[in-house]
Parts: sequence; C-alpha cells; structure tokens
Amino acid sequence: MGATGGVASKLSSDFDLTPWHRVSDKFKQEFGQHAYNTWLGQLGYEGIDGSTAELTAPTKFVRDWIQRNYAARLLDFFQAENPRIKSLSIRIAARRPEMVAVQPTAAEAAAAQAEAVAAEESSALDPKYTFDSFVVGKSNELAYAAAKRIAETDEVSFNPLFLHGGVGLGKTHLMHAIAWEVRRRNPQKRVVYVSAEKFMFEFIAALRFKDTHAFKQKFRTVDLLMVDDVQFIANKDSTQEEFFHTFNALVDNRCQVVITADRSPTDLEGIEERIISRLGWGLVADIHPTDYELRLGILQSKAEQASGVIVPAEVLEFLARRITSNVRELEGALNRVMAYATLVGRPITMDMTRDVLQDLIRANDRKLTIDEIQRAVADYFNLRLSEMLSERRARNIARPRQIAMYLAKQMTSRSLPEIGRRFGGRDHTTVMHAVRKIEDLRRDDSQLDDDLTRLTRLLEG
Ligand code: ADP
Ligand code: MG
Repeated sequence: MGATGGVASKLSSDFDLTPWHRVSDKFKQEFGQHAYNTWLGQLGYEGIDGSTAELTAPTKFVRDWIQRNYAARLLDFFQAENPRIKSLSIRIAARRPEMVAVQPTAAEAAAAQAEAVAAEESSALDPKYTFDSFVVGKSNELAYAAAKRIAETDEVSFNPLFLHGGVGLGKTHLMHAIAWEVRRRNPQKRVVYVSAEKFMFEFIAALRFKDTHAFKQKFRTVDLLMVDDVQFIANKDSTQEEFFHTFNALVDNRCQVVITADRSPTDLEGIEERIISRLGWGLVADIHPTDYELRLGILQSKAEQASGVIVPAEVLEFLARRITSNVRELEGALNRVMAYATLVGRPITMDMTRDVLQDLIRANDRKLTIDEIQRAVADYFNLRLSEMLSERRARNIARPRQIAMYLAKQMTSRSLPEIGRRFGGRDHTTVMHAVRKIEDLRRDDSQLDDDLTRLTRLLEG
C-alpha cells in the first residue's frame, strides 16, 4: 500500500505499523474506499512521538484538506488504538521525488477538490439509470417531466421537487438520471445524491464524534441535493432537525433539492408538521402504479437492449398482463426468462415462461393488498389517506371509505374483522354495513358504478 511504502526506510525494526493499518481500515469503513484513495492513502505514517501521531502529506493541499475534514476522526481512530495520543501532526513531505514541490495553485486545488467530491458521489450512481433508459407513460410523465426540467435548466422553478410512489416504480432511477444529466451538462456543479438512511448514519457519526462541521460543509455547499427515501428519517428526531436545517439552507440559497418518499408529504408519519409543509412548497409529483401499456413499453425496451435473445411479443404481453406489482419485479421476470433460455440454449416460448415464472405469477395473482386499495381510493377521490381512515363522517369522506372497504372485500381474501382493523380499528359490522350499502347504491347510481369499474380496473392494472 502506497500509504506506508515511502517511509519504510525510516522505520526501526520494532516499529509497529499495525495501529496505522487499523486506523486506515476504520477510515475506509467510515468514509469509503474512494475517500481513502483520494486522501488518507496519500499520507505516510512516521510513528508516535510522545503523545503525537506523526504523519506526512505529499502536498499542502492534501494536508489542509485532511486537517479540515478528517483530522478529528483520525484522532479518534488513533486514540482507540492508543489512548495516550492527544494530537496529530501532519508534515508536508513528498513521498516520491516527482511529487516534490508541486504545490497546486488555488485553481488546481479547487479542481482537484471538485473532482474528488464528484468521484466520491458518482460511485453511488447506477450508470443504467438514465433518462434514455426511462420509459415514460401516463403514470410517471409528470415525475419524468419535472426531473428533466431540473436536469436541463439552471434556474430553479420549483423547490423542492418531491417525488413519491410505491416501491420499484422508478424514483431512484429518476434521481440518478438527474445526477448523470447535470454532471454531463455541467461538470463543475456539485451534485450530491444520498439515501436518507445514509444521511442519517453520517449525521449520527458526525454528532457522536463532534464533527458536524464537515457534515454541514458537505451537505450545505452543494448545487443540487437529492435525498432518496425520506420516510426513513421519520421519528428520528435529531436527524430530522438537521435534515430540515440543511434543506432550508439550500432552498434559501436557491439551490435545487429533490426528495423522494414512498408516500406523499401529508401521509408521512412521524415527521414534523413544519417539515411536511415545507416539503410541499415546491412541486409534488406522484408516480402511480404502472398500467398495461407502460409495462409493455418497459419490457419492449429492456428486451431490445438485451442482445442475442429474442423475446416473442406474446411473452412480453403475457408478462405485462400478469406481473403488475412493480417495475423491479417486471424486469426481474424478464431477466429470469432470458437467463433460462440462454442457459438451456432454447428459444423463449410461452410454456417456458409459465414454467420459469410459476411462483412469481402466483404471487402477483394474490398481490393486491388492503393498503393499495386504500391508497388508490383516496387518490381517486383526492383525499389524504389519513383523512379516509379517520373518524370523520362527512359524506365526501365516509363514502370513499365505504367504497374502499367494499373493494377490499371484493378484491382480497381478507375477512371482515381484518378489513375493519385496517380501517382504523373499526368493527366488522361497520365493514359489513359498508359493503351492503355500496352494493345497494351501485344498482341505481350509475356514477358510483362507473367509479367502481374504473377503480377496479385501476387496481387490476
Ligand atoms: P424506486 O426507487 O421507486 O423503488 P427504482 O428506481 O429502483 O424504484 O426502479 C426499480 C427498477 O425498475 C429499476 O431497475 C429501474 O430502472 C426500473 N424502472 C422503473 N421505472 C422504469 C421506467 N419507467 N422505465 C424503465 N425502467 C424503469
Ligand atoms: Mg428507490
């Protein structure tokens, strides 16, 4: 490892490199291999002098960067090895002759810094998730258009962009697509993509080691911040607080923020009201479950990209009809069939498809959940989920609630008591009453009949 090679000649025979290796390992664990290669891997370890750990850096730039961003944690790591260590000293000393005296200019330093940051961030991005590979349909066109807008224009027209929808419907794909496109158009821009979970872990680590400065520096000095799956920070109070401050700071500076969650801002539970309300200030775009056309389009596009295997149209249509849960499963199904065909060296047929996907098809058959029905009905009637499940008896809320109960009875195998429980702990007689009521009304009320037909079709995909 280059980190220690350069000082080998200075080491006495009893010099122990193990602590340095362990410090390096901890650094990698906490900051990642990339940060290690860029920063700590540049340092040489000279040993311990009294209470000081002595290190060397090849340039002033590297030394300053480490001192500003990592010194506190490095000291923690050293102290875990040896509690007597009270300070670090980083001397500038070229490790290799060709590096001597090459002090970067301010511009070079800034460029190196931007590059290091960009490289660290893009490691989390999937190269397959681009706008080109995203298939647009009715259910995701608003989300797509909004994402494109952010990626392609410099002015901030809505902030934040809040994308929400169930799992596997393309939220992460769109975020990565934004990041790739911004980076392509404008490599100097600082784009940070992070899962809410990672945001939380980094924040907690920063708090624990009293190093929130670097954390704030990282997240509050970006041009575009994207936080994926914010439902993860629900009920995590201090993280929420920090997230909110970061978010406010960025929005106030007119820096673009993009957020995703598995539900709308108003349906996020355990997140403070002021945060929820501010999350809704920009554009809220809902990604709906896919419809048949979109599923077929996605399958066609994936099948085209796969070279060497021909997937008959009837197989694609079959998959689009039967795998309705989400795009991730849909892709998985297609991949499985293609992999199987390649493996056994036979062309793909309907029989093969049914055979290979037996379990998946069965799972999708009984897939519909009460939760999905509730969401679909709330959506359809423009209600919040929480409103629909509430105690309120106003007709415009009670009727959709009864419709949702009715559909839950018709479209799932759940019992009346079970359905009652899922509707805010109601009694099974309430559910029974609702089911009868809707059955009765449906006969004479053509509008209601229409709504039910449409909802059923929507839910069946
Ligand atoms: P989410 O983050 O909403 O859970 P992902 O973005 O991870 O979902 O998407 C799951 C998978 O489905 C990914 O492989 C993604 O590329 C694919 N996918 C989702 N929507 C589309 C789409 N409209 N076009 C092409 N691929 C899609
Ligand atoms: Mg995701």
